[in-house]
Amino acid sequence: MENLWDPTKADGLDELDKLVYMTNLIGADTSLVVWGGGNTSIKIIEKDFMGNEAPAMWIKGSGSDMKSMHRAQFPRLNHDNIMPLFDREDMSDEDMVAYLERCLMDGESPRPSIETLLHAFLPFMSVAHSHADAVVSLTNNHDSSSVLADVYGDKIAVVDYYRPGFKLSKLVGLAVKEAPALDGVVLMNHGLFTWGSDTKEAYDKHISLVNKAEEYIAKGRKSVFGSVLPSKNGDEHRRKLASDIGPYIRGLVSERQGMVLKYDASESVLTFLSSEEGKRLSAIGPATPDHLIHTKRRPLWVDPVDVNDLEDIKGLIDDAMDQYVTDYTSWYEKHTSGEHPMLDPYPRVILMPGVGMWTTGRDAHAARIVSDIYHHTINVMGGAQAISQYSSLTPQDVYDAEYWPLELYKLTMAPPEKELARKVALVTGAASGIGKAIAERLASEGAHVVVTDIAGNAAESVAADIVTANGFDRAIGLSLDVSDPNSVAAAFEQTRLQYGGIDIIVSNAGIAPVGAIDKLELSDWQRSLDINTTGHFLVAAKAIQILKEQNRGGSLVFIGTKNVPAPGAEFGAYSVSKAAEVQLARVLALETGANGIRVNVVNPDAIFEGSQLWSTELREERAAAHGVTVDGLEAFYHDRTLLKRQVRAQDVAETVLFLASERSSRTTGAMIPVDGGVKEAFPR
Ligand code: ZN
Repeated sequence: MENLWDPTKADGLDELDKLVYMTNLIGADTSLVVWGGGNTSIKIIEKDFMGNEAPAMWIKGSGSDMKSMHRAQFPRLNHDNIMPLFDREDMSDEDMVAYLERCLMDGESPRPSIETLLHAFLPFMSVAHSHADAVVSLTNNHDSSSVLADVYGDKIAVVDYYRPGFKLSKLVGLAVKEAPALDGVVLMNHGLFTWGSDTKEAYDKHISLVNKAEEYIAKGRKSVFGSVLPSKNGDEHRRKLASDIGPYIRGLVSERQGMVLKYDASESVLTFLSSEEGKRLSAIGPATPDHLIHTKRRPLWVDPVDVNDLEDIKGLIDDAMDQYVTDYTSWYEKHTSGEHPMLDPYPRVILMPGVGMWTTGRDAHAARIVSDIYHHTINVMGGAQAISQYSSLTPQDVYDAEYWPLELYKLTMAPPEKELARKVALVTGAASGIGKAIAERLASEGAHVVVTDIAGNAAESVAADIVTANGFDRAIGLSLDVSDPNSVAAAFEQTRLQYGGIDIIVSNAGIAPVGAIDKLELSDWQRSLDINTTGHFLVAAKAIQILKEQNRGGSLVFIGTKNVPAPGAEFGAYSVSKAAEVQLARVLALETGANGIRVNVVNPDAIFEGSQLWSTELREERAAAHGVTVDGLEAFYHDRTLLKRQVRAQDVAETVLFLASERSSRTTGAMIPVDGGVKEAFPR
């Protein structure tokens, strides 16, 4: 590991900025800390709010991520007010948190890290703490005492595993008080603390101690997981399998609350899965409590006997999942003191040799965090195997970490979930007009959105904007020709790989050819049927197969048109094909109600804004048909409605949101106009 301290960047910074600089350096290396792990602090003399000098301690705020932290995320505490605690014998977590809150020097500040007391009890100007993979490998093995002595001699103190809190802080404080010349403290099953008389020294020592661990591991055996069994699966086959299996797994793990999946077939994961030792090692336990809160104690391991038989694989997943839930429940019952109800008993990590790894989360970002962390769990197991045999926390320690009131409290502090959180939606024809407005609206309510369009680049651009507005991986853009079965199959395969399945399908893509029936070219008529009828059939048929696999219901919304109940002359190819689409939707409602799948239709009219449907030709033709000028066409449509108001794409999106959401949970087979009120088009 390289020491990245750059004096040209750090020199001249004030002490807090130097702390930010070090924090970002450590945070940027995922082999040191992953997603919210680790913390740093400094102690300096500063003026308090009254202008009096006081010993201030700046420390990482709880819940922030080291790689992206800035000044405002470090609360400041009065160190003199904290230190009397060192003389106490014991203190509960609740009392500690309440006490530290009173030590804050500034009114508005984030809650200080749960490891604040440990930093406070280290009598040094700057302190750095990480959960370095290499250091955890040294602690999580059967020979840890001799290994740690080999690597560090007497330059570090080793402190037994305790959950962060008063007791651990005091033990570390005492160890350092007795031997102030130490370079650092290693916490068993947890990580490393170093310090210095300035921030650079704390950082230098940190990197140097981690390097010693890495070098020691590198001298160990090469083949850390035993021999790797040859895989029968090529990339294509694996991709197909993962896509087929994803919705089935997603259905099972979403029993209590909906989950989004992330699939991972990276080299390091596949190697671990095909290794002789992988299965045994994965069942031993988490590397650290920090990993555990994201990955749970164990992953679900599924050994497919025959990776070509999908039904057989599903049976194996079923059995393995049942066993997992039974094991989790009995582990919970054995270790709980009854004060916290059982959290959901489903795995966060699902491992299948020859196929890959799925991780689960409330959204794509959370599933990615679990994935990143399990990569590091594999690293730690590899490091430990290179020098000895991997070991983990005791089952009771795992329970106390997963059901730690301070962690559970963090969960309650999360903002309330949006209406479509945990859902995945696919919208066709979503690069412009109504489809784009729908994709954006569903995303703004928390859904992950697959933006599809015949114009693939434009779909990707809409998806990119949704990600910017709503967060990591919240949308993908795909090219989709709804009239081509192969294109439809490919889009759904990609969706299943990306998110593990789907919940909402908005079938919107359409075209509007014009012309009297006796003058219409057969090719125009056929193309209208291909896209406006067969396209909806192809998309719906695939969607329903997946929804049935997941077995968790779902919602299909078809974008019809006012022309279905009230057709227009010289608009036959459009009106006929759209009427067939709506009949298709009604038949689907009949066929899928028993599966909890709802199918509804929205009938918009005269939406011009951003629309690709309203070509120049269509505008000219419709203007002529109604005897108005092209410029007067929009006004003509508004004026003929009962509400006499412009109908916008966002008005359609609002109705689609209602039909996609649980608010319409008792509605299927319905047709809702969004047309400003056209009495000829009243549904009947
Ligand atoms: Zn820690």
